[in-house]
Amino acid sequence: ELRTPLNLISSTEQLVTELNKSKDGIGKSKLNGCMQVVRRNTNRLLNLINNIIDLTKIDVGMIKPNFGNYEIVSLIEEIALSIIPYGMSKNIDIEFDTNVEEHYIKCDPNMIEKIVLNLLSNAIKYSKNNGYIKINLILESDIIRFIVSDNGIGIDEKIKGKIFDRFSRGDNSLNRLNEGSGVGLSIVKSMIDIHNGNVTVESVLGKGSTFEVQLPNIKIEDELEEIYEYNRD
Ligand code: ADP
Repeated sequence: ELRTPLNLISSTEQLVTELNKSKDGIGKSKLNGCMQVVRRNTNRLLNLINNIIDLTKIDVGMIKPNFGNYEIVSLIEEIALSIIPYGMSKNIDIEFDTNVEEHYIKCDPNMIEKIVLNLLSNAIKYSKNNGYIKINLILESDIIRFIVSDNGIGIDEKIKGKIFDRFSRGDNSLNRLNEGSGVGLSIVKSMIDIHNGNVTVESVLGKGSTFEVQLPNIKIEDELEEIYEYNRD
């Protein structure tokens, strides 16, 4: 997984150098195409390395939550809005609904960002073109529920119980095409555990999947209420 994007970056560099040896150079449109390959694979590599760093920190117990009382509704909504362009590339509709306008809970916003981004990017990754994704935030007295539903490829019963384990990935053409590394959901699960929360999945193969995250509806006493500045980039 680490080698594939690196190989693509390296071979693109060789291609650019080779084409640039000609009298007229590589040309604008070929260069743009090559840079796109480099950009995509650099991001993929960065993402993988960040995941590996997170996993290592989790393993050695070095992942320290930075808890505060953060406004959870706008945080999740901002993240959902930021992935709309990514969904549009597959013509996927993304809908956000909430039964509460503003609410503060004890959480680590960086971890919430990773949890939500992982679930939403999976929902897009494992959806067919023209699908839909529904994101729901439901506040109850003891918990806050965050639900992501898609009408994508669904999950085989055989691997459903294992998807939160490290390096477990489904074995279908979409998985191979996306070349997932099988670590995203294990990081999600560990970070939800750190919040004393819970995550479950329901899925029907070929019909879609629903992931539900439950976080305790609690606050740190005598601490400020804050709004996390989410960086859409
Ligand atoms: P990755 O996506 O990198 O393979 P994850 O840990 O994020 O790794 O997910 C593990 C596996 O769970 C995936 O390989 C895929 O088979 C399955 N999966 C996760 N989310 C979805 C989803 N929304 N729809 C269908 N399958 C999913």
